[in-house]
Amino acid sequence: MRCGYVAIIGRPNVGKSTLLNGMLKQKISITSKKPQTTRHNLLGIKTEGDCQMLFVDTPGIHIKEARAINRYMNKSAKSALRDVDVVLFLVDRNRWTEEDDLVADLFKKVAAKQIVVINKVDLVQDRATLLPLLQSLQEKFPDAELVPVSAEKSLNLDTLDKVISDSLPASPFYFDSEQVTDRSLRFLAAEILREKLMRQLGDELPYALTIQIEKFVEQDQLATVEATIFVEKEGQKRILIGNKGERLKRVGIDARRDMEDVFGTRVVLNTWVKVKSGWSDDERAMKSLGYDEY
Ligand code: GDP
Repeated sequence: MRCGYVAIIGRPNVGKSTLLNGMLKQKISITSKKPQTTRHNLLGIKTEGDCQMLFVDTPGIHIKEARAINRYMNKSAKSALRDVDVVLFLVDRNRWTEEDDLVADLFKKVAAKQIVVINKVDLVQDRATLLPLLQSLQEKFPDAELVPVSAEKSLNLDTLDKVISDSLPASPFYFDSEQVTDRSLRFLAAEILREKLMRQLGDELPYALTIQIEKFVEQDQLATVEATIFVEKEGQKRILIGNKGERLKRVGIDARRDMEDVFGTRVVLNTWVKVKSGWSDDERAMKSLGYDEY
């Protein structure tokens, strides 16, 4: 059996989230277990055969904004990379930027197994044109293994899978094989609420809602959750709230029940609906994940 931690690093927009989803072959799903204590905050767990990969959340992985890249290279990113077993450095098949250089500096120093993943090769007509890039990457990172993939089209992900699994240490599994994530309860709270909203509203809200968990406090077997649901227009807000607030109330009851099941505690859930546009999705996503400092 093999089991170990895998980090994905790379500049914004290179395809990290797409790769993670592609590797997990499914969206992060809600598990009915409380998170186990680990050294890392995990984004996803992939168990296949006798191998379990634990994808860790590297500070900065969610950042889309170029200016934030320096913060991404901060101390916590470095320490997160210190005790993983494998680091995937994701690069684009045809573009190398200053941001890549920053990530590369970090990558070169990791003691873990180094894998350079060349992404978006579905956009390459003639594979032979990749050879000079592969050669220069191999010179830059002599210890690294190189794997070209398309995260989006799932090209060559099985090879990447094999390379990763061969690099993991022999170890029993750390998690049950059914478990996909141990993301924070705060994150799960947002996911549960989103699911209930989608179920209630169906086609009536054919746009993306944004949910922000303003407060999440667990104390004495009671979780207090305060959530804001952002919509783009007043009309959407009215639909969501429903006649005399019936609809939002229904959603809240359903969501609270599920949260109680998942968290194993009683839950008090308060929701607000606000009209707000112009925020970057990333900023919201980061906040809902608890990255308030960015
Ligand atoms: P991140 O910022 O590194 O997490 O990047 P994302 O995963 O959000 O991807 C950035 C953009 O690249 C998105 O528009 C993806 O659809 C696109 N993308 C990711 N992987 C591929 C790929 O293999 N091929 C193509 N053509 N586009 C991709």
